[in-house]
Amino acid sequence: MLILSPKEEEESTEIREHDLGIIGLGPGGLTSAIYASRAGIDVVCIGRDYGGQMGLALEIENYPGFENISGIELTDKMREQAEKFGTKIVYGEVDKAEKTNDNKYLIKTDMGNYLVKALILATGGRHRELHIPGEKEFVGKGVSYCATCDAAFFKEKTVIVVGSGDAAATGTLALAAVGAKKIYWVSRSDYLKCERIYIERANSKDNIEILYNKLATEIKGTNTVEEVLFEDGTSLKVDGIFAEIGAIPNIEIAEMLGVELDEGLIKIDDDCNTNVPGIFSAGDVTSKIRNPLSRQITTSIGLATIAALTAAEYLEARFTTQ
Ligand SMILES: Cc1cc2nc3c(=O)[nH]c(=O)nc-3n(C[C@H](O)[C@H](O)[C@H](O)COP(=O)(O)OP(=O)(O)OC[C@H]3O[C@@H](n4cnc5c(N)ncnc54)[C@H](O)[C@@H]3O)c2cc1C
Repeated sequence: MLILSPKEEEESTEIREHDLGIIGLGPGGLTSAIYASRAGIDVVCIGRDYGGQMGLALEIENYPGFENISGIELTDKMREQAEKFGTKIVYGEVDKAEKTNDNKYLIKTDMGNYLVKALILATGGRHRELHIPGEKEFVGKGVSYCATCDAAFFKEKTVIVVGSGDAAATGTLALAAVGAKKIYWVSRSDYLKCERIYIERANSKDNIEILYNKLATEIKGTNTVEEVLFEDGTSLKVDGIFAEIGAIPNIEIAEMLGVELDEGLIKIDDDCNTNVPGIFSAGDVTSKIRNPLSRQITTSIGLATIAALTAAEYLEARFTTQ
């Protein structure tokens, strides 16, 4: 158990005040932070992981200005730029958020509490699970949700990548690049939803086999993954399985604050306003990016720019005395 000294205890319950709170350290959150802090706003930007989903991308080839850059490198650049303009970055989990009587927002995190006058939710998404027997049992023992993160552990191994979108495509190629012996790229339907260029690259590799109309139903093994069963009665002997089947929007904080949703995404207008005055939203978590294929860094940062500028106008109108 962590025992805090009286001073540390006092610091952990202390409320730090900022003009604008941003939840999300992905490209959306960091872009809003750059714009807002550059406009002279006192910003705190909070996230539980570095770079959000962007931080998981091994290689990014479609971010303008960079032919090829890793997600971590791009995150470093965005974070440095935000910090240069004065953004306070906090690595922490937001457990609770509530409106105060004076129309501010109190954000409670495991790294302390923050009181802000306006809030941008750029909370993005997290990986979706397969929900099949054996999955939970073998997480970290052959079951992974991020091929670009864990590919290196599967050199000379046989693996399955489940999914049909860009994450499954780039994961499959990452596994091929680290020297996996054989990669079965498995789609539950008769098509792949990813960019065409990825399919062409996969088809050019001897160690990748694309299988269509295959639904994984069970993962079996003793200490680690050994076999995956499919609905059609077939099975594959493998050392690992990567579930790359998309993201679930992180809407828990929005729900706590009474923010209206639209089909499970944060509902925003053209200026990135939510239904709650003083709360704005941007990126993958919003109703503006409905098509999963359009959930990209560039689309996220476009909305994040709008959210920051709208939040700046709100702060100016509501909190600046003439
Ligand atoms: C493996 C992979 C490869 C990809 N490759 C590309 C690519 O090549 N090109 C491209 O354009 N796009 C790519 N994408 C998609 C791109 O990364 C996303 O569209 C983009 O990151 C969305 O940005 P965002 O800021 O909206 O959300 P996210 O990146 O999801 O960031 C959300 C942030 O919110 C934080 N958060 C959420 N809830 C809480 C909470 N309760 N407390 C604290 N923090 C919280 C998270 O920690 C995170 O920091 C890839 C995605 C993946 C997974």
